[in-house]
Amino acid sequence: MPHNAQDWETLDKRFLWHPFTQMQEWQRQPQLVIDSGNGVWLKDINGRRYLDGVSSLWVTVHGHRYPPLDRALTAQLHKIAHSTFLGASHVPAIQLAEELLRWTPKGLRRIFYSDNGSTAVEVALKMAYQYWQLRATNGAARATPRTQFLTLENAYHGDTIGAVSVGGIELFQERFRHLLFPTRSVFSPYCYRCRYRTKAVQRTRTPREAPPAPGRPGMYRPETGCRWECLGAVERIFKKHRHRLAAAVIEPVVQAASGMIVMPPGYVAGFAALCRRYGVLLIADEVATGFGRTGRMFACDYERATPDFLCVAKSLTGGYLPLAATITTETVYRTFLGRYDEFKTFFHGHTYTANPLACAVAVENLRLYRRRRVLGQLEEKIQALREALSVLRERPHVGDIRQAGLMVGIELVKDRATCEPYPLAAQVGIRVCAACRPRGLLLRPLGNVIVLLPPFAITAPQLRWMVRIVGTAIQQVTGTK
Ligand SMILES: *Cc1c(COP(=O)(O)O)cnc(C)c1O
Repeated sequence: MPHNAQDWETLDKRFLWHPFTQMQEWQRQPQLVIDSGNGVWLKDINGRRYLDGVSSLWVTVHGHRYPPLDRALTAQLHKIAHSTFLGASHVPAIQLAEELLRWTPKGLRRIFYSDNGSTAVEVALKMAYQYWQLRATNGAARATPRTQFLTLENAYHGDTIGAVSVGGIELFQERFRHLLFPTRSVFSPYCYRCRYRTKAVQRTRTPREAPPAPGRPGMYRPETGCRWECLGAVERIFKKHRHRLAAAVIEPVVQAASGMIVMPPGYVAGFAALCRRYGVLLIADEVATGFGRTGRMFACDYERATPDFLCVAKSLTGGYLPLAATITTETVYRTFLGRYDEFKTFFHGHTYTANPLACAVAVENLRLYRRRRVLGQLEEKIQALREALSVLRERPHVGDIRQAGLMVGIELVKDRATCEPYPLAAQVGIRVCAACRPRGLLLRPLGNVIVLLPPFAITAPQLRWMVRIVGTAIQQVTGTK
């Protein structure tokens, strides 16, 4: 066994393959080996401290080694670490269902557990697909079952093949094009790079007008220059293909992985209303936005949207253990009921479905949201972050700053006037984050977008400190004042 820090890094480089990582570069550069954490801080095996600026990839809520969560985990460990959910149940999973349903949008009543965000989405896709088959055989719908999905450009729903199929990020899809099932894709409401953008919109950034009422797409308001073409395009597809569409999949309010693209207010409500009107099931992927990340418990809450499927994962356990859930309606659930030999069963499940340790931590996590008023305490921090960020807005290479709650994307551009992006190969995002590291801040970018997504446990002064460091790093890398 190795004795010093250098040895661990050497062994990592000899044996391991990291996710979303060009390993040739990993091999060449010094790497971080984390040893422990406390609150918002991480410590590496050399004893150096870093603020966890991306919540260990968007999961940590109350901080690392949070005593109530530690206690919940230990208590469950004294009972049992794992028992199967196939053919048996256990108390933590039942308690968690009760806690979850206190928070979920009205109408969602049935919980199907899995292990991560990708599987939560896979489950929703397969349920929606089978739902229409069962409806067709029940004689309640048209004889031909619906088999297609409507997806958004710039969407990210995970890395398993079904989840990649409904994604919209070319870089992640192109290699696997022939393995993926086809979808009907519509452009996303990415206001900063809206293809219908005019000079006026460029100035206002987000459209101020209300979205068109369903059935009246494309109202043109010259004062903002925004036609809400993005919703009009959804409606055009629904009009033409509603009888083929099993479901529409959306990351409500923030398309996270493509660069924290914040949708204009009203878009999600308009999208949900269109789904309702045209009878297309709505799958809301709140894997990133769920559990207060945007300031509300779920992003859907902002727009009073009730999806037919809600997918949650990342912060469900407060960032402790992998666990996910797909939450659906009684209508969908009942469609799957029947005699055994009708084989309407949902044939899907994972070995570690509803792992009791993960469920026990998740129960305590959600109880803390109630008892400690986690969301109420966020508002002040969200405001402090907004104020701190305003200083960066006019910097030369800062194209757009997008914020929803404690979720921020700073899009760096080569040319502010034309919005010309830096080429990905220039690795501007990677270099800015690398420049933050010796200053004690750990970040991970999304291309040219610097992501700030701190644990909720962060304080206002720590938020300001974090933004100052990012500002300095951007200055250093882009060579500007
Ligand atoms: C992270 C993410 C996923 C995938 O979750 P994994 O746990 O990494 O499989 C799916 N959807 C969204 C919106 C995400 O942010």
